Amino acid sequence: MRMGTYQKTQWAQIDNAFKKEIRTALFLNEHSSLDYLYGSTSAGAMRIPVAAEESEIFRIDSAFKLLSTKDPIVQELAGRELGETVREATRKPARPIDISEWLNGDHTGRPGNSQTIWTNARGSTRRLEEAVKWAVNEKDELMLQTDSITLEPSHKRFVATAIRKVLRKRRDEKLQSLPSQGKAMKLVSKTKASSHFIRSGSFTRFVDWRFIHRARLNLLPVNGQPWVQEQGCRRCQQQFESLAHVLNHCPPALTNIEKRHNDIVRRIKTAVENPRTGCKLLYENETIPGAQTRDRPDLVIEKETTFLWWTSPSHLRTEKTRSKRPGRRRGTSTST
Ligand SMILES: [Zn+2]
Repeated sequence: MRMGTYQKTQWAQIDNAFKKEIRTALFLNEHSSLDYLYGSTSAGAMRIPVAAEESEIFRIDSAFKLLSTKDPIVQELAGRELGETVREATRKPARPIDISEWLNGDHTGRPGNSQTIWTNARGSTRRLEEAVKWAVNEKDELMLQTDSITLEPSHKRFVATAIRKVLRKRRDEKLQSLPSQGKAMKLVSKTKASSHFIRSGSFTRFVDWRFIHRARLNLLPVNGQPWVQEQGCRRCQQQFESLAHVLNHCPPALTNIEKRHNDIVRRIKTAVENPRTGCKLLYENETIPGAQTRDRPDLVIEKETTFLWWTSPSHLRTEKTRSKRPGRRRGTSTST
């Protein structure tokens, strides 16, 4: 990749072959957003490297490393060779600012027949669509700039990481802007805990992957989709079978919903009982003495001066179902 032996299109063929296999492993169909595969883990995506993109990043990275190496001879040779390349292309003396503009693709220049590390770096910078730009610092040294950081010659080890971060951030934003597939991902991206199972595998089995990735992208075959004519629930008589209905509200599934709720409560209780957490369980499913409300939170936990009231989102039910269970608090809340 660093030497530019293969073209981007050749790496893209590898990506294409991997893409199909990864989607199969995640039980996603061909309509699923690719940004879910290639986005960042912090936003809940899978962070699969894109070979074609990596080849572009490494071309820029290699060029920058040559120009900023600590070896004065190599640095001088690299700078001189780049200057000559730019002078030949632009047909005028190459000042540092001209070199940075040429690397950014600002000069049209003469199309060269030969491929060099510098023309490769220029092409890659253009193809990454302003994810990274070349610039010049006060010492007339070339540096790189992304949306959030400036990479001076001393930061040469972080170039590839910084560019990848920008590209993944773009993908995360694009995924979360999708009206259907991005709806849940907006919430998933709020905390890394939502995606712990992807890397650690804790508390999940691979068989759960048949459900979870499709559920996150709203791609489960529920009836409540705009293109489905009969949108009613296939298990009860509700008129709209949405994912929320199936998971939390469908009456025939209430026994399982209750069981899931109790399992979560049990798991939180087990964690709270560990003295290292510094938490203390005050009340469980009972009204709080002296409180104005008769709500019965599932758990009331004290940590230093913070009180956490926890109830399972499974109790976000329809009004009809909820009215049969008076005195239960809805949703999750935190008070200090
Ligand atoms: Zn139903």
